[in-house]
Amino acid sequence: MKTIGMLGGMSWESTASYYKAINEGVRQRLGGLHSAKICLYSVDFEDVERLQSAGDWGAAADLLADAAAAVQAGGADFFMICTNTMHKVAPEIEKRLSIPLLHIADATAEALVSNGVTRVGLLGTRFTMEEDFYRGRLQEKYGLEVMIPDADAREDVHTTIYSELCLGQVKESSRLRFLEVIQSLKNRGAEAVILGCTEIASLVRQSDTSVPLYDTTGIHAARAVAYAIDG
Ligand code: GLU
Repeated sequence: MKTIGMLGGMSWESTASYYKAINEGVRQRLGGLHSAKICLYSVDFEDVERLQSAGDWGAAADLLADAAAAVQAGGADFFMICTNTMHKVAPEIEKRLSIPLLHIADATAEALVSNGVTRVGLLGTRFTMEEDFYRGRLQEKYGLEVMIPDADAREDVHTTIYSELCLGQVKESSRLRFLEVIQSLKNRGAEAVILGCTEIASLVRQSDTSVPLYDTTGIHAARAVAYAIDG
């Protein structure tokens, strides 16, 4: 079994979900007392968030590249960035490493494509929803049509992520707002919606809606388990 390098702490709430999902996945596959071999570097999210809001993506890339180099030196065979947003700097990080990156958008797109989805809604931080690093990859590499919520809804989703979900707060009013946004994407033609932020699954579950949801945390974790075991 390969050792998984995890860049976590963005936020630690979602890294805890990753850690549990990956270990459960390995136990399911291998049985007994098997658990995942993980080298985790958990950053201080306050540092990362300050760089994001300052637009200093170069410094953010350096911070994560140092963390990735540490997991590589610690014995990781491949690595994953346990947040959608920070894949904005994935190319800079990859340049500094010799081990491969398991990209969250690739794992998600493969799940969508294998289920025959072609038009998909995307929820995430403002960076993930509005910029090209994530949507562009889904569109250009996988031919998916990606729809995002309107400006007011994007603002609500972004703010809820940083001021509630990354702090472990789950509010019913936010759940209802997210469900409304998901339904409006469906009404505009989305066949499914990507929970493109690793904390959203703590707020909205598949049982809350008939719209198929693609939880990037669960999908990325499952992909890591498969890659660690099967290569
Ligand atoms: N975990 C979130 C994501 O998947 C947001 C936190 C961050 O900015 O990294 O995008």
